Amino acid sequence: TKEITVEEPLSAKELESVTITNPDKILFPKEKITKLEVANYYHKISKEILPYLRNRPLSLLRCPEGVLKSCFFQKHIPTPLPATLREIPIAEKSGVKNYIGLQNPLGLTTLVQMGAFEIHCWNSVAESVENPDQIVIDFDPGPHVPWHQVVEAAFDLKKMLEQLKIKSFVKLSGGKGLHVHIPVRPVYSWEQIKAFSAALAKELEISRPDRYIFKMTKNLRAKKIFIDYFRNTRGATAVAPYSLRARPQSAVAMPLEWSQLKKTTSADEFSLTRALAYLAKRKKDPWSEFQNSHQRIKILDDSLKLGS
Ligand code: ATP
Ligand code: MN
Ligand code: MN
Repeated sequence: TKEITVEEPLSAKELESVTITNPDKILFPKEKITKLEVANYYHKISKEILPYLRNRPLSLLRCPEGVLKSCFFQKHIPTPLPATLREIPIAEKSGVKNYIGLQNPLGLTTLVQMGAFEIHCWNSVAESVENPDQIVIDFDPGPHVPWHQVVEAAFDLKKMLEQLKIKSFVKLSGGKGLHVHIPVRPVYSWEQIKAFSAALAKELEISRPDRYIFKMTKNLRAKKIFIDYFRNTRGATAVAPYSLRARPQSAVAMPLEWSQLKKTTSADEFSLTRALAYLAKRKKDPWSEFQNSHQRIKILDDSLKLGS
């Protein structure tokens, strides 16, 4: 069978099919950002975002009436399926379910047309759904945690990973916290990846129990940072790098260099406008090594006896 990737060329008929209806509809009322401006955002940054979406099952937050109106999550394919999107069949307990994937770059415009401008994705790709190719550790600060402690938390994890000779990449969530992504070679099972993520989260709590908590118990979290490793469960998602967040004020889930992280003041400091200006001037992609980092995890290799 032919492998479908986002490079798939479109026929003239398909090209015609991506239309933005109601381009002047305001999606972010506080900043008066229209649907067309959101479509333009994704068009301008398509080269940056597509590598992170390619072949991945997506979970979409749709806000067709704008961010101040009701929004809803969609995991399964819409009917009829637009030509720019593809289905990614995934076995579930109740049978095979069809997830949403991008068929080609124009799929981004289709998503905006659907009001789906907050894009979340799986930690595995269609060709090896059962073997995650990245780990995402999600730092969720309680309401009383100062930002510099969230930054320190991500650095604490970075150092811990460096001791294991593992590279990691950081992004602002565009919401309240930070996400650390660890690209891995897709050879491990969900269970192994989840166990490894849980071990990292537990280690962090042990290293600084006054600051970190890795259990889901909500009442203990107000002054602590919840190390949410549950993003690494089969079927879980995290917001994609460069995705817009559907919040009262627009914000981009912005990938950063570790050194840049120190100068940040909040997780939502890149509005759509600021993100576009910043990306237009940016000299270097801080995650340029991400796509080529097929990292192995030694303790998992040892337990699998995979060798090197
Ligand atoms: P923040 O920095 O504010 O925590 P976040 O993106 O990390 O932003 P979380 O609340 O930590 O948000 O949620 C983690 C992830 O869980 C989300 O990014 C999303 O992928 C997933 N998620 C949240 N709500 C739903 C939902 N209703 N249906 C499906 N997935 C969801
Ligand atoms: Mn979070
Ligand atoms: Mn979370």
